[in-house]
Amino acid sequence: MSVRENLLAFKKELPAYVTLVAVSKTKPVASLLEAYEAGQRDFGENYVQELVEKQEVLPKDIRWHYIGHLQSNKVKYIAPFVYLIHGVDSLKLLEEINKQALKNNRVISCLLQIFIAEEETKFGLSFEECETLLKSEQFLQLKNVKLLGLMAMASNTENEEQVNNEFKNLNSFYLKLKSERPDFSVLSCGMSNDYKIAIDAGSTMLRIGSSIFGERNYPQQS
Ligand SMILES: *Cc1c(COP(=O)(O)O)cnc(C)c1O
Repeated sequence: MSVRENLLAFKKELPAYVTLVAVSKTKPVASLLEAYEAGQRDFGENYVQELVEKQEVLPKDIRWHYIGHLQSNKVKYIAPFVYLIHGVDSLKLLEEINKQALKNNRVISCLLQIFIAEEETKFGLSFEECETLLKSEQFLQLKNVKLLGLMAMASNTENEEQVNNEFKNLNSFYLKLKSERPDFSVLSCGMSNDYKIAIDAGSTMLRIGSSIFGERNYPQQS
């Protein structure tokens, strides 16, 4: 199936309130254009340099999502144009995003990354660390970042019940925060292998790569 066919098949399946972010890391510009021409406008990338290079040559109405682990010293490269930064997992990073947003005269939307998986390799805050951050004086002073919600990755396992539990716990926590925060509207969870579970558990934003663009054929740097 072509990128176009994959995308259209996917879109048909999704509830209207769910945003589909097409994860195009490692994929050539031609594949992104094919998706763009099929109507896709939200694209997700994991590597700063790759994102910047693609942004320069692709249409300007694309909404670029940064979904990788962002290093503070690289925020400046994406601050002029990034639409949503998904993987924010420290106050220090938020402060740098705020600083670069101010320089660009923008308010940058962000999601806090929550750690819900069993693996030790995944980034993110615990529920408790997230609440502490949200209550901190330093956070309350940041005027050029806007927190729209949470992002997470489930364990990489065949055990659907476990994935379901992880997403459900995440959603309960999200809804609790949302009840006190009018800006909250995004729960970013669900990838190619677990998006159905994610939708059932309350996801509002999926990040889908291989089911749209095919398997990635060279290993990811990080
Ligand atoms: C690569 C990636 C995805 C997409 O994964 P697929 O399994 O190809 O759908 C989603 N989220 C993050 C954070 C990723 O790094």
